[in-house]
Amino acid sequence: MSALTKNRAGSGVRPARIPTRLKKGDTVLVIAGKERGKTGKILRMIAEKNRATVERLNMVKRHRKGSNAQSVGGIVEKESPLHLSNLMLVCDRCNKPTRGGSKVLENGNVARRCHRCGEVSER
Ligand SMILES: [Zn+2]
Repeated sequence: MSALTKNRAGSGVRPARIPTRLKKGDTVLVIAGKERGKTGKILRMIAEKNRATVERLNMVKRHRKGSNAQSVGGIVEKESPLHLSNLMLVCDRCNKPTRGGSKVLENGNVARRCHRCGEVSER
């Protein structure tokens, strides 16, 4: 699929990744930091930094200068990536944060299972 899924050869020492079952499009709850208690959808995973950008969360204001006629100067709000350890998966079905254990299906695929309602979602 994308270059991100490929294992880069000879990349040397990499920072340890937090094992996560989160993926793009998942709804997550922020459990720490200034956005604590808010939920949003993951827009982008930055696995190598153990971070993810979440829709409309952790917005930062960027001041832009209009450099030419096409670009308008002013303040642009942008999502800043949140650390994965501050995020918790929210179950699609029961709408509650879940630890989401994984489960290996009969066909060998790994699925997530909500520990609250038992919902199993294949990824
Ligand atoms: Zn659930």
